[in-house]
Amino acid sequence: MIKGLCILGSTGSIGQNCLNVVRGREDRFRVVSLSAGRNLDVLADQIAEFRPSIAVVAQRDSIAPLRDWLQARGFRENIKIIAGTEGQVEAVSHPEVNFIVAASHGTTGLVAVYEAICAGKAVGLANKEVMVVAGELVTRTARERGADVLPIDSEHCAIHQCLRSGTHQEVRRLILTGSGGPFLKTPSEKLEAVTPDLALKHPIWKMGGRITIDSATLMNKGLEIIEAHWLFDFPSQQIDVMVHPESIIHSMIEFCDGSVMAQLSVADMRLPIQYALTYPERAAADGYLPLLDLIAAGSLHFQQPDAGRFPCLALGRAALEQGGVMPCALNAADEVAVEAFLSGELQFTDIPRVIEKVMRGTPASHPSTMEEVLENDRQARLYARESVSSMTHPHSVG
Ligand code: MG
Repeated sequence: MIKGLCILGSTGSIGQNCLNVVRGREDRFRVVSLSAGRNLDVLADQIAEFRPSIAVVAQRDSIAPLRDWLQARGFRENIKIIAGTEGQVEAVSHPEVNFIVAASHGTTGLVAVYEAICAGKAVGLANKEVMVVAGELVTRTARERGADVLPIDSEHCAIHQCLRSGTHQEVRRLILTGSGGPFLKTPSEKLEAVTPDLALKHPIWKMGGRITIDSATLMNKGLEIIEAHWLFDFPSQQIDVMVHPESIIHSMIEFCDGSVMAQLSVADMRLPIQYALTYPERAAADGYLPLLDLIAAGSLHFQQPDAGRFPCLALGRAALEQGGVMPCALNAADEVAVEAFLSGELQFTDIPRVIEKVMRGTPASHPSTMEEVLENDRQARLYARESVSSMTHPHSVG
């Protein structure tokens, strides 16, 4: 059967890599709908090449310029161009779509992904915010509707692969690995002076702004603990984090008999994407995916993450353990704090301070509908913005 794909976030790095995986495989995949934000020229190229039935842009006022871009490329076919969350929902609901790649940034794709899961469609999840913000609701709904949720995050793809060699009861712990980010060796007194430029230099992966800062603060691992909990149904105490600077082992599982299964590969997001798209089959690398050369790699190193210098990791774990609204508040506060850091309003070391403040000020509650989740997200963002204003350092205000 040909898989009909909807790609949410098609012009981002995961979206583009997804199209790289699909290119030339018309026997397996058809791109039915593409959704992007404001990157209209890239979207126009993608439409001209993959000829989807629907294209979605973030704002209505982007529809006419996109038509102009398409005309400039001599694209004359009939295509429906729509906008916003409603447009995304229509894109996932198209009858030919049976697999959604969720790769929008932040919470922009949340409603559409939830609708797809309600309709029982399979989702490849690159957008970890979906599980962080609405993990309980999404997981319960997926179970009720029989929708598969497959991880595209490299660590969770690794765990998913390792889990194929044992049962849930046989697992002692999941071990999420992380490169440790660009400040692995930076002493704590120097972290305060870290600039956005320095923080945006990730040693291994080329990614968007927020996830790169999240990797530098280790919040990314905090969010991944929450994501792993919802995807694989293990409690916080059974999910560990280990720093592994070479990023060759993408995560591991320790089983009850002491055996450890690890997934190793070159750090290339096309592999987790292809794995999710073709699961339960494993498609051949076909020359386009690089093979791992362990002899060239030489040696692999591991160390404990430094909780003192990187408090975001513990904040992520605390949010999971407190449950309910807290992971949503954590995520919203982090997004606001990272934006404020990137725009020079906050120092690097203020990011966890804002998050902690927002978590402390968020009353416990248990959202059970998407509307409640979105309202919690709005409230936490407002509170985070207030907290940022109250912490802004006078010397860094333009
Ligand atoms: Mg990851």
